[in-house]
Amino acid sequence: MLELEGIVMAFGGFHAVDGVTLSVEEGQVLGLIGPNGAGKTTLFNVIAGAYTPTAGTIRFLGEDITRLRTDERFHRGLVRTFQIPHEFHRLSVLENLMVVPPRQPGENLFANWFDWRRVRRVEEEVRQKAIEVLAFLELTHVANERAGHLSGGQKKLLELGRTMMTDAKLVLLDEPAAGVNRTLLRKLEEKIQILNREWDYTFILIEHDMEMIAKLCHPVVCMAEGKVLTQGEFLDVRNDPRVLEAYLGE
Ligand code: ADP
Repeated sequence: MLELEGIVMAFGGFHAVDGVTLSVEEGQVLGLIGPNGAGKTTLFNVIAGAYTPTAGTIRFLGEDITRLRTDERFHRGLVRTFQIPHEFHRLSVLENLMVVPPRQPGENLFANWFDWRRVRRVEEEVRQKAIEVLAFLELTHVANERAGHLSGGQKKLLELGRTMMTDAKLVLLDEPAAGVNRTLLRKLEEKIQILNREWDYTFILIEHDMEMIAKLCHPVVCMAEGKVLTQGEFLDVRNDPRVLEAYLGE
């Protein structure tokens, strides 16, 4: 589904990502781990299109997307979430889902603003979908709350919901467990699993919570100093002496 080949991301003379070759198969939940400064976030930025790599190519579903903009990647189903929570604080939870742009360009609600009956119908469809997404995430009881009032974990669930509004194919999750209490963490894990198994979402997640990585991720890829150190089953990666050493040097 996603193939990275020889990705280098240099800032000045420093290679934050230093020759990463990696493939992600459809249906996987790939866990990206590694000590601070390993280059994980930079690699996410390269995959999502925030940065154009200094060298290397990115293929998504067989297409070279190395030089495509973030929005062009989004329209192909490559969606990034869990950056700094960017939900609209003053909007309600339901509205936060309804304002997510559709993945297919041209389905924009306002493209046909002169056709009010069509606008109403599309708005009603979007509302119905948002209501279903809230039910799936067990957030119906806070549908009319301001998003800014949600707990850290509820905000993460909402972010996952915003992804579901787009019919994403590959979702990049940036530290989903950070700032989430234990109860909501289990719920978040369960929802990610269902989205993966039943909705055919493929995930790459950066995570420091090893319990979550162990539970959800196969394979696990460990980066250090801009490079892929090793990859495989969680236990094999965790027990790899080079991985231990990389974390000790953090
Ligand atoms: P991780 O997410 O694994 O903690 P990052 O990708 O954030 O690692 O950072 C990798 C290295 O690249 C770090 O040493 C960081 O200081 C450096 N870095 C990241 N972004 C920039 C940037 N925009 N300019 C210069 N250096 C950067």
